[in-house]
Amino acid sequence: MRSAEMHELSLAEAVITSCADEMRKAGRSKVTAVRLTVGRFSGVEPEAFEFAFDVACKGTPCEGAQLELELREGILHCNACGADTTMEDGFDMICPACGGFDTAIKQGREMLISSMEVE
Ligand SMILES: [Zn+2]
Repeated sequence: MRSAEMHELSLAEAVITSCADEMRKAGRSKVTAVRLTVGRFSGVEPEAFEFAFDVACKGTPCEGAQLELELREGILHCNACGADTTMEDGFDMICPACGGFDTAIKQGREMLISSMEVE
C-alpha cells in the first residue's frame, strides 16, 4: 500500500468514527449517506478516498452508506497586494497578481462532514 493510500485510509476511519458517534447521539443504528466537503488543497484524492472509505466501512455502522464528495476550490490570499486567486490546479504559493510570496491559503484545506443521513 502506498503512503498516500494510508493517508486516505486514516482519514476515512476518522470520518467513519465521527459519523458513528453522531449516529449514536441521535439514537440510530445505521448511517445511510455521508456528504463531505473536500478542499482542493486538503491532500485528499477523491478516488483514493472513496476506495479507502469502502474498505474502512466494513463492519461499521457506515457499511453500505452512500458517499458523496463535494470539491471546494482553493483560494490563495496575497498579503502583499490583497488579491484572492482561485487555485484550480497545483499548489503554487506565488501570487499571480503581483508575483509575491507572502501568501496564505484562505480556503481549500478543509475536509468536513457537511451532512449525513441516519436510519
Ligand atoms: Zn499579490
